[in-house]
Amino acid sequence: MGASLPSALVDLVGNTPLISLARIAAHVAPVEIYAKAEWFNPSGSVKDRAAWNIVRTAIQSGYLTPEKTLLDATSGNMGIAYAMLGAALGYRVHLVMPANVTPERKVIMNAYGADMTFTDPMAGSDGAIEKARQLYAQSPDAFFYANQYDNDANWLAHYHGTAEEIWRQTQGRITHFVAALGTGGTFTGTGRRLRELNPKIRLISLQPDSPLNAIEGWKHMPTAIRPQIYDPALADENIEIATEEAHSMARQLAREAGLFVSPSAGGAVAGALSVAERLKEGVIVTILADAGYKYVSERFW
Ligand code: PMP
Repeated sequence: MGASLPSALVDLVGNTPLISLARIAAHVAPVEIYAKAEWFNPSGSVKDRAAWNIVRTAIQSGYLTPEKTLLDATSGNMGIAYAMLGAALGYRVHLVMPANVTPERKVIMNAYGADMTFTDPMAGSDGAIEKARQLYAQSPDAFFYANQYDNDANWLAHYHGTAEEIWRQTQGRITHFVAALGTGGTFTGTGRRLRELNPKIRLISLQPDSPLNAIEGWKHMPTAIRPQIYDPALADENIEIATEEAHSMARQLAREAGLFVSPSAGGAVAGALSVAERLKEGVIVTILADAGYKYVSERFW
């Protein structure tokens, strides 16, 4: 075999490994749990999939042109993904986020050269969404408003990518898909396609148990602006996860599986295990949205 050719950065989005959580899930055997290691994406999270599909679609349809600035509200990972793509492809990026996002995230977005507007932490991610809408309304010609919450290219990234990968990597054996809701893109897109591939697959969405949760990237749907791309009828079941459960599982994954992952990923595995505990057999797949590096300043480790 000859040496492989170099890839463009965007070609590294997706096709992440599926990791067996056999040790963590030993007590639920013969139920199997697997997780998509989404920090293998080039900016380090699952959001590269949505960001790249949104950017690619906008370039193809002429909405994003070199003189425009990509604008969006983001809790962090999507902003990092946009900022990376902007730097790699030569577009300016302007991100709106609550002022209390972790310092690590601000440093990363700044390193990629993105502009940032900070909103009132008390207004949460909805405050950032309102501010982004306002900025766009003031200067519609200056911006491409990517609008990850309402943009079909978000969930379609998972419909064409994540779902097909999971189907292939489990040889069609998956019985349950468990994933958290942020914009709902991951759950909606992956869930829709998996259900087409096998109508018997159970789809379980995860949400924080309170609007005051501290699981970065997750949305408490009953109290938030509902994303247009989120289809509440899709899930067979919704499970609520406490912040402490997510933190505790993130610690356990580091120590017992060698996986240094985020509270989001910890919460996802906690959800997958609670599904597994009720089953006699099954193949559960969940999403480890990002690694732990962006959360090192948090106290729970
Ligand atoms: N986990 C983390 C860490 C995230 O940043 C996000 C995105 N907000 C999610 C989960 C949820 O992903 P989605 O937006 O596709 O629902």
